[in-house]
Amino acid sequence: MTSEIVAHAREQGRNLLTEIEAKAILEDAGIPTTSARLATSPDEAARIAGEIGYPAVLKVVSADIVHKSDSGGVALGLSDEAAVRAAYEQILASVAAAEPGARIDGVAVQAMARPATEVIVGVSRDPQYGPLLMFGLGGVYVEVLKDVSFRLIPITPRDAHQMVREIKSRPLLEGYRSREPASLEALEQLLLAVSNLVEAHPEIEQLDLNPVLAYRDGVLAVDARAYLSPSPPSL
Ligand code: ADP
Ligand code: MG
Repeated sequence: MTSEIVAHAREQGRNLLTEIEAKAILEDAGIPTTSARLATSPDEAARIAGEIGYPAVLKVVSADIVHKSDSGGVALGLSDEAAVRAAYEQILASVAAAEPGARIDGVAVQAMARPATEVIVGVSRDPQYGPLLMFGLGGVYVEVLKDVSFRLIPITPRDAHQMVREIKSRPLLEGYRSREPASLEALEQLLLAVSNLVEAHPEIEQLDLNPVLAYRDGVLAVDARAYLSPSPPSL
């Protein structure tokens, strides 16, 4: 499955995988996601949402767009068929205005996940040390406070145990005030699964699970982005 997705993107000369493809790869690695299905018309989006169940989420699918919400490409909490149809048209219009010329494949339809603490798992490659795994809380905790932990891939269970506990915002994970406490064990399993995935697929150059929702009883990746390394030169 993962190898086929990689081969398909390479055939099309793409390094950026779609959210649909990136989530399929995560599912293949045992990581739960709000898996997404492609719709190419408002009718198809409404039909898929009906199968998945409401509330639904729609997002633009384009190999030219990296930050979907920045260009108006994400619609959350759609409660019925009419809302899905309207959101489909709205996303296409917003994205066309924000990113003229972007090639749009259609819209990804997925389930709306229950809110929870948002965490980020990232993989990047250091030219000297190789693949690096990053973990932190979402939003300002990563972007402003840089409150993250890092390890070289492959990580050990002990690394995973430490990574989720050494960030300063750890009390938020443990259920500060009215927050639902996150399962630290599920987060450790997630980090190990991402490490194994990247070890098994060195063609994955960069991976961003942003955000992953961290619940009392498990995790759920609601957005995923993956970049492949440049294709090996053909001989
Ligand atoms: P972007 O490309 O802008 O990062 P995301 O897919 O991350 O787009 O969507 C933006 C935000 O919307 C996420 O950070 C998350 O808070 C929320 N979100 C996205 N998908 C879902 C979903 N399936 N269920 C619940 N919330 C979601
Ligand atoms: Mg995101």
